[in-house]
Amino acid sequence: MIKYKLFCKKCDLKFDSWFASSNEYERLKKKKLLNCHMCNSSKVEKTIMAPQLISSKSKTNKKINLEKYNKVKKTITSYQKFIKENFKYVGDNFAYEARSIHYEGKKKSKGIYGSASQEDLKELKEEGIDAQMIPWIDENEN
Ligand SMILES: [Zn+2]
Repeated sequence: MIKYKLFCKKCDLKFDSWFASSNEYERLKKKKLLNCHMCNSSKVEKTIMAPQLISSKSKTNKKINLEKYNKVKKTITSYQKFIKENFKYVGDNFAYEARSIHYEGKKKSKGIYGSASQEDLKELKEEGIDAQMIPWIDENEN
């Protein structure tokens, strides 16, 4: 079932009407079987949503999201700068390096950062090794 908002061209009445399908609406309209509830005129039309209204709204949303994204990106970029200056990059060996610090008591002058899978992070956490996940933007992305 489809509900359409209909309006009468003659008396301007707007009313809702149910149809089995959009085809049924077309069929009834062609046969002039759609009648205004008020004046019984067959000049009844489906109200059409204004698409320009919808698109202008979504454009605004996009703009807001982009501004928000750029703001977040700026924050992440400054995080990354801090981390790069203060932590040692270990790449994919993050889980291994984190364990070696934890278990062998290796003292490193710097903290480490690198990439690890969700699984790795879960295991590290279970072993009591503290790892912080942060969003990371690939510099080549620009
Ligand atoms: Zn009418």
